[in-house]
Amino acid sequence: MNIHEHQAKAVLSGFGVPVPKGYAAFTVDEAVAAAEKLGGPVWVVKAQIHAGGRGKGGGVKVVKALDGVRAEAERMLGMTLVTHQTGPKGRVVRRVYIEEGAAIERELYLSLLVDRETSRVSVVASTEGGMDIEEVAHSTPEKIITFSIDPATGVWPHHAQALAKALKLTGDQAKQIRTLLPALYKAFTTDDMSMLEINPLIVTGEGKLVVLDAKVSFDDSAMYRHKDIAALRDETEEDDKEIEASKYDLSYIALDGEIGCMVNGAGLAMATMDIIKLYGAEPANFLDVGGGASKEKVTAAFKIITTDPNVKGILVNIFGGIMRCDIIAEGVVAAVKEIGLTVPLVVRLEGTNVELGKQIINDSGLNVIAANDLADGAAKIVAAVRAAAA
Ligand code: GDP
Ligand code: MN
Repeated sequence: MNIHEHQAKAVLSGFGVPVPKGYAAFTVDEAVAAAEKLGGPVWVVKAQIHAGGRGKGGGVKVVKALDGVRAEAERMLGMTLVTHQTGPKGRVVRRVYIEEGAAIERELYLSLLVDRETSRVSVVASTEGGMDIEEVAHSTPEKIITFSIDPATGVWPHHAQALAKALKLTGDQAKQIRTLLPALYKAFTTDDMSMLEINPLIVTGEGKLVVLDAKVSFDDSAMYRHKDIAALRDETEEDDKEIEASKYDLSYIALDGEIGCMVNGAGLAMATMDIIKLYGAEPANFLDVGGGASKEKVTAAFKIITTDPNVKGILVNIFGGIMRCDIIAEGVVAAVKEIGLTVPLVVRLEGTNVELGKQIINDSGLNVIAANDLADGAAKIVAAVRAAAA
């Protein structure tokens, strides 16, 4: 789950992390009122979307008068902001953040993320923070320094030392790092973050370290124990199909391809996506219906796939262990009865109650292409989509 910059800053502030003062606004009047409350003389108007790169796309503006705040809020609210992270469709800006302006001496980069390989928290730092960090990573990767923190021991003084060195901070600023790093680490672990990216972390004119931009992602599986964080969710920033899927507790991720997949088990779902690519097409989604799915859940899953306009063909690939093939068949048949089927459908069923499952599909009169195994299924759906397009 992702949250907006202003929410991320509020969360971090709760752990003692220094952030500029600011207020979120949903209307132009609210934006001006926020600016008046802050007092100026410099404000920053920042579009709030769940994507970075806003500065380059015109979503971050420093202004020096209340009229400027009004004009920028008017321009940003309702605009479709396109950045290198939103894709060409962009995102509609529904709220802005009005912040007190900061004098910037240096822009640094700092992020914390879960490193699954080492089971540790990685710290990534660079002196070259700001809007061109992607370019830095690409052309001068040696300027990006990484070390990890073992969750069994937490932050030690040597970690702060390493970070201060990586960021070329000495004296009082190195001292600030000694409180900042543990505070960030505490926020990260307490709230089950999977990523915390601060770009830029600035050194102000007065020599203070301040978090000027923050991007936070949380582990979805931990949200049940953070009701306060879960409440920060903004569904307007999420894919409609993913929201629908989450209502049924389905593991679904929308992708860009044309073959819709319904699979049980995350590993098999990954393998199915791989083999679709191997046969020359692209998956339209990742979908794991899980082990003990009900007919209703399968029906919902199939509906989500079929209503995706990008889907030109569907591959159902079930290896029934706990999952019963007849339940899958019933779900598919029920969904098709309700909303129809206009694209080719390949079904590969194997495992528990497979004969019953096949019979349900045969008896339904559905136009289904049966497949024997994973490779056969992938080959058949790719061929059927090609034939339909020709
Ligand atoms: P992003 O482009 O989505 O990552 O948005 P940021 O919040 O990182 O803002 C982009 C850039 O705007 C920063 O790298 C700064 O250079 C600049 N910026 C943001 N806030 C301020 C501010 O208070 N004062 C000044 N002078 N520049 C700012
Ligand atoms: Mn940024």
